Amino acid sequence: MTDHYAVFGHPIGHSKSPRIHHYFAKQTGHDLLYTAQDVSSQCFETALRTFHAGGGKGLNCTVPLKEPAFRLADEVSPRASLCEAVNTLYWREDRLHGDNTDGVGLVRDLSVNLGIPIQGRRLLILGAGGAARGIVGPLLEKAPREIVIANRTLSRAEELAERFSSHGPVKVMAFAQLAGQQFELIVNATSASLQGDLPPIPNGVLAPGGCCYDLMYSEQPTAFVQWGEAQGARLSIDGLGMLVEQAAEAFFLWRGVRPATSPVIEKLRGRPSG
Ligand code: NAP
Repeated sequence: MTDHYAVFGHPIGHSKSPRIHHYFAKQTGHDLLYTAQDVSSQCFETALRTFHAGGGKGLNCTVPLKEPAFRLADEVSPRASLCEAVNTLYWREDRLHGDNTDGVGLVRDLSVNLGIPIQGRRLLILGAGGAARGIVGPLLEKAPREIVIANRTLSRAEELAERFSSHGPVKVMAFAQLAGQQFELIVNATSASLQGDLPPIPNGVLAPGGCCYDLMYSEQPTAFVQWGEAQGARLSIDGLGMLVEQAAEAFFLWRGVRPATSPVIEKLRGRPSG
């Protein structure tokens, strides 16, 4: 019988997740259906129960449902508990399990796909919203020298740094304090790229040979990816790889099999592999 999975969120029209999971299913020979459903926060609990009653096996949640998913889960993984957000749900013996695969998705894209080192490096994270909350813990696990968080609303960055202060060297700086600093990796976790904007980051903060990574992905280079290129980044790239990697981790949680991600990333970038 075909197992049913879905991604819930709002808006959801442009989600690439159905395409990604279709590729994974084909590659691994798993018989599954993966759909996208437009679900608001208000309708989330009802939609979740209806999906499960109809035989649904597992879900991904995107904006604005990651925090509500955390609250609705019966059990959550340590990594989801740390960031209080869930992007992957599944039922085991009718108990709803929640996990967060975003951070591990980013780390795998950086380390495995792109060969960008984290250990011993000084990292700058721009933004302190939901996405930033999901990546700080997994990045700290890779033992960077320091993570600096800069955010437009400084209090949100302070809250985030406080949450992870016992997990590694993490501190906060206002955008205006960044001038004269140097970072080997700059991760844009703001949503500024959605409007084609650049966060107010000063020139010259990217260390020679450093890399830039925008969590947002798009057909055309984002404003931040272009900024990284102009700063002479060794690599300046968007978050498509993270999207595929977080999906692969969810697929593994649901199906017990880890799909190969590189061919899927290549396909989504319009570069068919082999
Ligand atoms: P969010 O919770 O709404 O947070 C938005 C963040 O962006 C806040 O820190 C906000 O600052 C900042 N911001 C917004 N506009 C800005 C601007 N013009 N200049 C400077 N800062 C600005 O959003 P989110 O869920 O964290 O998502 C952030 C991005 O990550 C989105 O582009 C999303 O698509 C991407 N994402 C990608 C993946 C992936 O798999 N590749 C996964 C998750 C998220 P304030 O606090 O001051 O408002």
